[in-house]
Amino acid sequence: MKLLQDRIRQDGEALSSHVLKVDSFLNHQVDSALTMAIGQAFAAEFGAERVTKVLTIEASGIHFALATAVALGVPFIYAKKKKAITLTEDLYSVPVHSFTRGETFNVSVSKRYLSATDRVLIVDDFLATGDALLGLREIVTQSGAHLVGLGAVVEKSFQEGRSKLEATGVRIHSLARIKSMSPDHIEFIEETAALAASN
Ligand code: 5GP
Repeated sequence: MKLLQDRIRQDGEALSSHVLKVDSFLNHQVDSALTMAIGQAFAAEFGAERVTKVLTIEASGIHFALATAVALGVPFIYAKKKKAITLTEDLYSVPVHSFTRGETFNVSVSKRYLSATDRVLIVDDFLATGDALLGLREIVTQSGAHLVGLGAVVEKSFQEGRSKLEATGVRIHSLARIKSMSPDHIEFIEETAALAASN
C-alpha cells in the first residue's frame, strides 16, 4: 500500500534495526483517514471470503479492526489481555508473549461472540515474531470457526512471524513489508518483487 509506505518513510522512526515507532500516525496519535484506507485495503483483499467477524487484540489493533469491519459491514471482536470482572462467561483463552513488553499474558475472547459458524479475518498492527497472531489463530481454532486470513498493517519481514504463520497454511496479507531498517533508512519489499519471487 503505497500511501502507507510513504507515510512510514516520512513519519516512522526506526529506533533500532528491529523496532519501528509509528506513534505519530498509527499507534498513539492515529491518522483516521489513513486508518479507514487501511480498513478498505483489507476489505478489498478479503472481501470475497464472506467474512462474518474481524478479530484483533487490544489495544493497538482495535482501530484497524474497526475500519476493516466497517468496510466489510460486519462486527469486530478485540481479544482482551486482562480478565475484566464483567467477563463472567466461558472464554477461549491462550497465553501470548509480547515482543514489545517482554511479558506473557492470557488473551481471551468470550465464547458468546465466536462460534463454528463464523468466518474470521484476523487483523493486527504489526507482524513481528508472529506470537500475537498465532495466539489469535489459536482462539479461532478453539472456537471451531473458519480462519479466512490474516491482515497485518506493518510486517517486519526480517523477523520470523511470516514464516511461522505461513507454515500453518493461512493466507497472509501485509500492507507494508519492511525488508530492513536502520535509524536513517527503511527498505520495503515491493509487492511486484515479492510476487516474482514466489512464482
Ligand atoms: P508479534 O511479535 O507477536 O508479531 O508482535 C506483537 C505486537 O508487538 C504487535 O501487535 C505490535 O503491537 C507490537 N510490535 C511488534 N513489533 C513492533 C515494532 O517494531 N513497533 C511497534 N510500535 N510495535 C511492535
